[in-house]
Amino acid sequence: MLDTASLNKLLAQPQKIVITTHHKPDGDAMGSSLGLYNYLIQQGHHAKVIAPTDYPEFLSWMPGNGEVIIYTENIQQAADLIADADLIFCLDFNALNRINDMGELVRAAKAYKIMIDHHLEPEDFDDYRHWDINACATAQLVYDFIVNVLNNKSLINKDVATCLYTGIMTDSASFRLPNTTSTVHRVVADLIDAGAVNWRIHELVYNSASENRLRFLGHCLTNCMEILPEFNTAIIAVNKYDLKKYDVNTGDTEGIVNYALSIANIRLAAFIVERDGKVKLSLRSKGDFPANEICKLYFSGGGHRNAAGGQSSASLQEVIAQFKNILPEYKKLLIQ
Ligand code: 5GP
Ligand code: MN
Repeated sequence: MLDTASLNKLLAQPQKIVITTHHKPDGDAMGSSLGLYNYLIQQGHHAKVIAPTDYPEFLSWMPGNGEVIIYTENIQQAADLIADADLIFCLDFNALNRINDMGELVRAAKAYKIMIDHHLEPEDFDDYRHWDINACATAQLVYDFIVNVLNNKSLINKDVATCLYTGIMTDSASFRLPNTTSTVHRVVADLIDAGAVNWRIHELVYNSASENRLRFLGHCLTNCMEILPEFNTAIIAVNKYDLKKYDVNTGDTEGIVNYALSIANIRLAAFIVERDGKVKLSLRSKGDFPANEICKLYFSGGGHRNAAGGQSSASLQEVIAQFKNILPEYKKLLIQ
């Protein structure tokens, strides 16, 4: 275990640091990792961000992106860095299975492990924890960690601010979710003052789609969406042939589930996709409906109340049927 004073003492000297985040990183995963990276390199630390898998083009522009190591593409280099590290920062996840094969490497590493995260039910693998489920994004917690734990607000430069802004913007669905408190807006105001160009970041993340991506979205909404009015639920299910036909890349499916949730009265939306030999579910909900409970109980997953994910080794049709079978159990919550 590490206390705050010992952590500050350690970080006062250059250290070998690995920063990692969950597989298939999203905007918060990459934004918080690169935000922390851009902070640490100013202090002379030897820091590296290792992403367990690749991530979408629309996240590949943040400062420091060129230095990111993708584990699946550089296994030996990543394993050596993990084994050799003095400190490993684990951002935006709290269970080692969220980083795939890297999990056992991190568990076995001699480094102090520091968890910065906002997901429920953390696993006990860390030596220091900056954890708050009320935070709208891990990037908000990285800001808080730099300002209030490390007392170094002055080192939040344009690069740090740009990355942290991206994390908060994406995880709060552009400042729309209920956890976007006045504190979040104050943090974001600080980040803009520190150099984050808010409108430009929005352009880079949200207005950078390919033509294929938009046509695929049209296909999903026109041909793949089923509304179940008796359960206030919408399902968008996509098979592997359509992914091929529309040349769908990493990240192209991100956010499509939100269109289903934008329908009035829909309280639960599911995006179910057949990919990489398994079926992946993304659930989104409104209000207090526990999307994460369904993912945890039935689809080996988890997440937040309003945004959760899971997977299954059954066929696409079986997963759709299983999902529909679960709904009656939640009918009361869905139709209130
Ligand atoms: P997405 O639908 O974007 O893949 O995931 C939404 C949220 O659910 C993510 O922010 C993540 O917190 C969580 N999540 C997705 N897949 C899993 C999973 O397999 N296990 C757990 N514990 N959480 C997941
Ligand atoms: Mn997050």
